[in-house]
Amino acid sequence: MSPAAPPPPLRQKKRRIAIMTSGGDSPGMNPAIRAVVRMGIDKGCDVYGVYEGYEGLVQGGDLIRQFQWSEVRGWLSEGGTLIGTARCMAFYERAGRLKAAKNMVLHGIDALIICGGDGSLTGADKFRSEWPDLVQELVDTKQLTAEQTKPYKHLNIVGLVGSIDNDMSGTDATIGCFSALGRICEMVDYIEATASSHSRAFVIEVMGRHCGWLALMAGVATGADFIFIPEKPRPEKWREEMCAVVAHHRQNGKRKTIVIVAEGAYDQEGNKITPEMIKDLLADKEGLALDTRITTLGHVQRGGSACAYDRYLGTLQGVEAVRAVLDATPDTPSPFIAVNENKITRKPLMQAVLDTKEVANAIAAKDFDRAMSLRDTEFSDMYNSYRTTTSTAIDNSVHLPPKKRMRIAIIHVGAPAGGVNPATRAAVAYCLTRGHTPLAIHNGFAGFARHHGDKPDGAVREFDWLEVDNWANKGGSEIGMNRETPVESGMELIASLFKLYKFDGLFIIGGFEAFQSLSQLRKAREQYSSLCIPMTLLPATISNNVPGTEYSIGSDTCLNELMAYCDKVKQSASASRRRVFVIETQGGRSGYIATLAGLAVGAVAVYTPEEGISIAMLAADIEHLRKVFAGDSGQSRAGRLILVNEKASKVYSAKLIADMIREEAHERFESRDSIPGHVQQGGVPSPMDRTRAVRLAIKCIEHLEQFEDRSDSAILSNPQSATVIGIKGASVVFSPMKEVEENETDWPNRRPNHEFWLELKGIVDTLSGRPDVPRPE
Ligand code: ATP
Repeated sequence: MSPAAPPPPLRQKKRRIAIMTSGGDSPGMNPAIRAVVRMGIDKGCDVYGVYEGYEGLVQGGDLIRQFQWSEVRGWLSEGGTLIGTARCMAFYERAGRLKAAKNMVLHGIDALIICGGDGSLTGADKFRSEWPDLVQELVDTKQLTAEQTKPYKHLNIVGLVGSIDNDMSGTDATIGCFSALGRICEMVDYIEATASSHSRAFVIEVMGRHCGWLALMAGVATGADFIFIPEKPRPEKWREEMCAVVAHHRQNGKRKTIVIVAEGAYDQEGNKITPEMIKDLLADKEGLALDTRITTLGHVQRGGSACAYDRYLGTLQGVEAVRAVLDATPDTPSPFIAVNENKITRKPLMQAVLDTKEVANAIAAKDFDRAMSLRDTEFSDMYNSYRTTTSTAIDNSVHLPPKKRMRIAIIHVGAPAGGVNPATRAAVAYCLTRGHTPLAIHNGFAGFARHHGDKPDGAVREFDWLEVDNWANKGGSEIGMNRETPVESGMELIASLFKLYKFDGLFIIGGFEAFQSLSQLRKAREQYSSLCIPMTLLPATISNNVPGTEYSIGSDTCLNELMAYCDKVKQSASASRRRVFVIETQGGRSGYIATLAGLAVGAVAVYTPEEGISIAMLAADIEHLRKVFAGDSGQSRAGRLILVNEKASKVYSAKLIADMIREEAHERFESRDSIPGHVQQGGVPSPMDRTRAVRLAIKCIEHLEQFEDRSDSAILSNPQSATVIGIKGASVVFSPMKEVEENETDWPNRRPNHEFWLELKGIVDTLSGRPDVPRPE
C-alpha cells in the first residue's frame, strides 16, 4: 500500500455513489449529473464525481471528488460535460482496472453510474464482472487489507446512454441525440433558403459511422430528397435511383435539392459512398447538371445547450439510475436506463451492448435486413415514413386498385401547434403515393361552413404535392385553423357538406376542440349517413391535454420555446443575483407544459391547475426562497424561477405572486413577473414534433385505409372507425373515441382523467430542494 494513500474509510452507513461521463460528450450529460447528485443526496447518499472519464478512476486522487448540492446549480443549461470525458487506454487493460478498483475502495465508493456510449458501458460491465477478482488481487498483493475491502464485495453499475448517434439498442433515444438532430435540422433549414434562392443542390454530411439515426431523422424532419444510411446501403443502381428521384422532384417544380449522407454510408458491396461522389453525380453536365455544394456539419452537431427533451430525459434517467442503485442486490444484473416511446425503463445492460454490436456485425457481414431488424421499431417506422414522403412519390406500383382509393379530407381544428403542417405534408404525400385524393378543408369547421358557397371549391380543394412539399419545417397551419366545433357550425350543414364533397375518410389534426369535434361527429353518425366514414384524430396542441395520448405534437416545440425564454430570463438576473422570476405559462387547465419546463430549467416551484395555489403554499415557498437566498454563495449569479400555469388559480396571477414575494422579501431579494404568451406556440417546429408528426400522420392514413367496407352499418358497428392516435406508455395506439370520451376524459377541465406526468412534479420539487409545502385542499 502506498504510504501516501489516505486511510481507507470503514464501510459507511451512507451509500457512496460515483457519477462519471465517458466516451464522446453529448448534450444532456450535465442535467443527468445534476439529477444523480441531487437525487442521491436527497436519498441520503454521498455522491462523488469522477472527472475525465475512466482516466479519473485509474488516476484517482483529486479526480474523484465529493459533490455538494449547490455545486450543480445551473448545470441544466450547460452543454457537453462539466466533469470532463476522455478516451482512456489504461482502462482497456486489467492493470488499469485494478488501479481503478483500488481508488474506488479508497474513496469508499460502491456504486458507479456511467453516462456514455456502448464502449463505456462495455468497460463498466467488464469492471463489475471482474470486481471480486480485482478486490482479491488487491488483498493478495497487499495493496489493501482484507478488512479494508470487506465492505466492498459487490459493485453496482448503472448505465445511462449518453451519445449523439442514438446507436444503442433497446432504447428509443440516447441522451443527446435530439439536441444533435436539432442542430442538424437548424443548419439544413438555413441551407434550404440559399439552395432554393439559387436553385442549388446541397449534399450534407452528418455524423453516424454505424448508425443512420441522425441522417434518417434529419431526412424525415427536413423533407430531404434522398438519404444514405449505413443500415440500408443502396443497391448497385443507387446512382440511377437517386438521380431519378431528384429529376422527378425537379420536374414537379422543386427548386432545391437536399441529400443527406451519414458518415458511414456504403453501397451493398461495401464501397464507401462519399459526399464528393454524390456531388459529382448531381453536377454531371450530361445528367442533372445541378449547381451542387457539399456541407460537412462536423462538430457543431455535438455542441451547445441541450434541447428540452434531452434535459428532462437526462434528468429523469439520472433519477432512475439512483433508484436502480438503491434497489440493486448483489445478484441484480447491471441495468441501463432506457426510454421506449414515453416510458423510462430499466433493461439489462449487457444484452443491449451485445445487440448494439450485433448491428455493426450485421452491417459488416452485409446482412442489412438483420441490421435493420435489430434497430428499434421506431427506426424502421421512420425509414418507411421517409420513403413514403419523399422517394416513393415516383413509384406508382404502390398505388391501390382504383376501387380502394379514397377521398380523404384533412382539417385543422384548434390553435396552431408545431408539427401541424409537417403532419399534413406527410398525410398528403402518403395519400398521393397510394392513389388517394387528399382534400384540404380550409379554416376548420367555421371556414368549411361559411365559405363553401363563396366560390367553387372555396373551402375544399385538392392538395398538390409541390405545395405541401415545403411544409416539412413550417410552423402554424397553412390551410388555416379554427376552434369552432361542428355543433357550433351547424351539424346538419356540416353533414350535408360531407355528402356534397363525397368524403370517404376524415383526418383531423388539432387539440381539445378537435377532440370535441370528433366526439360530436361520432355521435351524429346515427343521424347522418354522410358521417358514416372512418375518422381519426392526431392530437396537436402545445397544452398536451388531449385524452387518448401522452404526447400531442406541438408540445415539444412549445417546451423548447419556453425553455429558451426561461434560460434568457434567468441569465438576465446574473448582474443582480437575488431575483425571482414568476413566469406565466400557457397550457389551459393542464400543468404539463409548466411541469416539464420546470424539469428542463430547474424551477424552484411549479404551480399547476391540477394542484392549485393556496396562501399557505405561497407562504412556505417564500420562506424557502428566503433561506435559499440567504445561503447563496455569491458565485451563483443567476435568477430563480417559479412557473405558474395560466389557470393555476383564479386569484393568484403571476403578477400578484411576484408582488407578494417582493413585499415579503423585505428587500433581501426582489421579484418580477414575466409572460411569454404566444411565443410558446413556437416558430419552426422542433425535430421531435416534425418527425413524430410524420410518423403518426402516416399511421393515421394507413388506419383510415383499412375500412374497405364503408357501409353505414359497418362503420357504426366498428369502434375503431372513430379513433384518436396516441402514444401511451411504450406504444403507439389507436383508441376508440367512444371509450376515450367515456372513460378517459375530464370534460369540465378539458384534460385526460389520468395525466401520466403528475408524478414528475415531485421530481421538480426534489431536485430544486423545495421543502414539503402545504398543498391546497
Ligand atoms: P461514443 O459512442 O461517443 O464513441 P463510447 O462510450 O462508445 O462513446 P469509447 O471510446 O468506445 O466511447 O469508450 C470510452 C472509454 O470506455 C474507452 O476509452 C475505455 O476507457 C472504456 N472502454 C471502452 N470499451 C472498453 C472495454 N471493452 N473494456 C474496458 N474499457 C473499455
